[in-house]
Amino acid sequence: MLRFQARCHVPTFCNFVAHYSVTQVEKPLDKVHYTKLFINNEWHNAVSEKTFPTVDPSTGAIITQVAEADKPDVDLAVEAAKQAFKLGSPWRYMDASQRGQLLNRLADLIERDRVYLASLETLDNGKPVSMSYNMDVGETIKIYRYFAGFADKWHGKTIPMDGNYFCYTRHEPVGVCGQIIPWNFPLVMQSWKLAPALATGNTVVMKVAEQTPLSALYIASLIKEAGFPPGVVNILTGYGPTAGAAIARHMDVDKIAFTGSTKVGCLIQQAAGESNLKRVTLELGGKSPCIVLADADLDQAVNHCHEALFFNMGQCCSAGSRTYVEESIYDEFLERTIEKAKARKIGDPFQLETEHGPQIDRKQFDKIFDYIESGKKEGAKLMCGGERHGNEGFYIKPTVFADVQDDMRIAKEEIFGPVQPVLKFRKMGEAIERANNSRYGLAAGIFTKDLDKAMHFIQALQAGTVWVNTYNMVGCQTPFGGYKMSGNGRELGEDGLKAYTEVKCVTIKVPQKNS
Ligand code: ADP
Repeated sequence: MLRFQARCHVPTFCNFVAHYSVTQVEKPLDKVHYTKLFINNEWHNAVSEKTFPTVDPSTGAIITQVAEADKPDVDLAVEAAKQAFKLGSPWRYMDASQRGQLLNRLADLIERDRVYLASLETLDNGKPVSMSYNMDVGETIKIYRYFAGFADKWHGKTIPMDGNYFCYTRHEPVGVCGQIIPWNFPLVMQSWKLAPALATGNTVVMKVAEQTPLSALYIASLIKEAGFPPGVVNILTGYGPTAGAAIARHMDVDKIAFTGSTKVGCLIQQAAGESNLKRVTLELGGKSPCIVLADADLDQAVNHCHEALFFNMGQCCSAGSRTYVEESIYDEFLERTIEKAKARKIGDPFQLETEHGPQIDRKQFDKIFDYIESGKKEGAKLMCGGERHGNEGFYIKPTVFADVQDDMRIAKEEIFGPVQPVLKFRKMGEAIERANNSRYGLAAGIFTKDLDKAMHFIQALQAGTVWVNTYNMVGCQTPFGGYKMSGNGRELGEDGLKAYTEVKCVTIKVPQKNS
């Protein structure tokens, strides 16, 4: 299936260096092993016996049917997670360091099956297999290892309060964590949520995206193989308004972590408020600006702004989806940007040289074309792309629009596709104001050689992450999350652990002895 050869170069999401090169990866069409619900370390049909299809985005063909969870299955999974969380259960009894060992064992198993997992990810999601192998699976392994190390290092403080008391804090797991993830980085999103929850001793009911259930179910089998006790991790496949909503409203789910659209994020927060005030963290949409100043290294800026948008076919919450360019370099920047977009290698995601695969499904494909049409109608200039590639699957050619104005839909709304709007600005203050004039605040990029200017932008931009002369560099160590309607809370890094523990303050009266 795979041979290791010379190093390959793929666009990377984070500072992951590709150490291996795959020379051939087969489509694992007849090698999908798990399609049922994973509850209490066992595989179950849905209570309703219903199933739904998962589709290969590169052809539009059905890969297989998977179990369709609904409220009764959520109830079973939550009950299993609740039992596993009970004091005295094997999981609660376990040393923190042993939880870390289990996470490391899981990372080892993922590494063992790295090629297969990459092939499954590409089959179900459509992303180029070199990216699945190098970035997605590679980063997933790192994330489980990073949080494994925290299992016995996330602790409280002793506090010198007034009076004769011994005061300290304990970081205790929150309880049963509901986790709902999207389809754009199935393995990575699963690890962002599972790893910190498990490192801190919680139990989990996770609903994976209906478009990409396969790799998550395979990870479930590895969780069992690694030796996690039954009920600690439960993985459900199913739809959002049914299974997802049942998790969000469940009275025995203590915390919910969601990644997805801002619209659904609002529903999740509402459901938490209308049920048991479960703790909520949200990682939502964005319309992140990339600002290119006239003094920037032009080649570098063009390349980064291109990757900022087209990475993962534009299906990235932090996509740099508003490229603001200073007037004096606008024309040259645009010319090079168009060349770059036209040169992007689009095609079969199982071909190793492919950089650009299909969009995830028909719904996204249609939605992106609707945005392309709106851009044309509202007066933006279509410079390249704007059409389908091939005649099967959900491919859209990399698309660049020039002369875009801030009030056009393609400049305001999250497209989640390969459409790069290029906008012109004259003054720094104007660029800052326009960049911040968005309901979103997930990320921003600045390209300049002038440190003073960079520092000014860093302070002024309302975004959870600011990249300078680079973009999309996310590592397991770096906190990630949004300002404004891009979300609540942070994932990854030490900050990512905060949402998974309650802080208990213990105060003990110390008897005063007369000497
Ligand atoms: P997208 O439009 O990119 O698919 P969504 O926010 O709709 O983004 O989906 C992200 C995740 O949220 C998926 O797992 C989806 O099933 C789930 N989801 C969608 N609607 C709801 C809902 N009403 N309640 C809970 N989860 C939902």
